[in-house]
Amino acid sequence: MRHVLPGTQASRGMALGRARLVQPSRYAVDTRPLAEEEIGPELERLHSALDTARQELHELRGKLHGALAREVNEFIDAHSLLLDDAELLRGLDDLVRIGHYRAGAALKKQRDKLAAVFEAMDDPYLRSRKEDIDQVIARVVSALQRQTTAEERKLAARVGEILVADTIAPADMAQLAGNGLLGVVASSGSAYSHSAILARSLGLPMLVGARDALSLLHDDDLILLDAERGEAIVHPTAQDLARYRAWQREAAAEGRRLATLANAPTRTRDGVAIRLLANAETAADVALARTRGADGVGLYRTEFLFLRHKGLPSEDEQFIAYRDLVLGMGGLPVTIRTLDLGADKADAAGLVLRGEDNPALGVRGVRLSLRYPAVFTTQIRAILRAACYGPVRVLVPMVTQPDELIAVRTLFKLARQDLKRDSIDLPEKLPLGAMIEVPAAAINVRALLEHADFLAIGTNDLAQYVLAADRGNDALDNIYTPLQPALLRLLSHVIGAGRRAGKSVSLCGEIGGDVNFTAMLLALGLNEFSMHPSQLLLVRDRLATLDHATLRGHATRLLRAFTHEQVAALLAQLGE
Ligand code: PEP
Ligand code: MG
Repeated sequence: MRHVLPGTQASRGMALGRARLVQPSRYAVDTRPLAEEEIGPELERLHSALDTARQELHELRGKLHGALAREVNEFIDAHSLLLDDAELLRGLDDLVRIGHYRAGAALKKQRDKLAAVFEAMDDPYLRSRKEDIDQVIARVVSALQRQTTAEERKLAARVGEILVADTIAPADMAQLAGNGLLGVVASSGSAYSHSAILARSLGLPMLVGARDALSLLHDDDLILLDAERGEAIVHPTAQDLARYRAWQREAAAEGRRLATLANAPTRTRDGVAIRLLANAETAADVALARTRGADGVGLYRTEFLFLRHKGLPSEDEQFIAYRDLVLGMGGLPVTIRTLDLGADKADAAGLVLRGEDNPALGVRGVRLSLRYPAVFTTQIRAILRAACYGPVRVLVPMVTQPDELIAVRTLFKLARQDLKRDSIDLPEKLPLGAMIEVPAAAINVRALLEHADFLAIGTNDLAQYVLAADRGNDALDNIYTPLQPALLRLLSHVIGAGRRAGKSVSLCGEIGGDVNFTAMLLALGLNEFSMHPSQLLLVRDRLATLDHATLRGHATRLLRAFTHEQVAALLAQLGE
């Protein structure tokens, strides 16, 4: 019989498919001991499953794009390391060989042992690594099961299915999307989680907080996932299906209409020109940025290169990556951000300081780069060389005070002199800009404007530091919202200061590409938005419906609001 499960929209859209329940702790384990002659083949099964899991992670990397690839790759790196962990592998082999455990039982035993070790740790970060163990072991177990039964093979296919789970790891979501998954219903989680951001980038409808989903749904139940309304309908009626078909027709027409905007200028309804830039890291991002008519690249996160690399990328490797980006944009300006490692950005390069009690408030971004002048200079030389191929701007992350910008400028000057000695012909001027993502930088922005040629506001971090709320912590949703009055006032202050100084100010945090915040940002005076290129047309379309003068006229009211609820209510009125 039809029933409706309420939830919260984490990613827009609708999907009709069969439910596939995932309860990771539920995997069945065969505890019968192995006979002597079974040990060899069982070891082979185990290693083949480990290889499959490694291969899956490897393939996953290739499928991801953009800013999200960086976040997901951190999980993939951590998981890949675990899969190659000598102690884990030896333990598994010993359990099978000496303890006569079957592969599944050995995996479960190792999981329990490692989980207990991590759970006993004092450091909350290390404690949370237990989740990684669970996700890695679940991946190997799933590979093992697929070797055995046709049923499991079907499970792996995911074509036509809607995943119903408690939560889902970003890496799994990316993999399943590649295998034909239609949507996700999660019984917990938040719209700001990494998985939710990833679902939006992949265009997968997703519902979170559908409390009873795992107890009320069964495998193969037909579900209409309606993220637009924030519900999942089990056993939909003919009427529901008609509504779904109507939505499909509308979505297709909308897609065609948006495609016509690819080469259109970006203007508000009252004709004010707005610059739309792309946050791009991969060749696919660059191609998309070009085909969707971006005005340039507003953020290229170079740490992405360092995270992919075992060790440090050489000057030439960096030069080629930056040069190809510049060439790819065909003469449009490209903003290359210097290394922003640390805090939530894992460190494959071995640069991040160990043992900091509070890495988000530690030596990250430009603070880290300035500690390693030789590493930083290598990057600076590569950027300077790439700038011979087209217009480049340099953006410095995590700036707190002017001396950091002064130090970076000095390093650029020295590197320039060195390169000139080698007769490399460099462009005369390379604009140097500051990310505004530290509250002190936002408040004291006039001091930075003395030394910066442009500013880029990083609201992902600025919000977490202003609100003292970890950007990745789902439990803080009610605090970590871009509608917080304190954040609005800072944004308005920074944008206004930039305008008065005659310097460009862009915004490259997640909200830059979220149409729910376009009106708010326009009201606050923003005229340069940088976003994942998949969002460009949506934002261009939204801007065309908004009246710049009217919104600017309401800025004071917005800035007077006391609570984020009041801001939301005002914005809702403005949208009517
Ligand atoms: C930001 O903080 O808003 C930003 C764009 O940088 P990142 O997400 O890379 O920290
Ligand atoms: Mg940031």
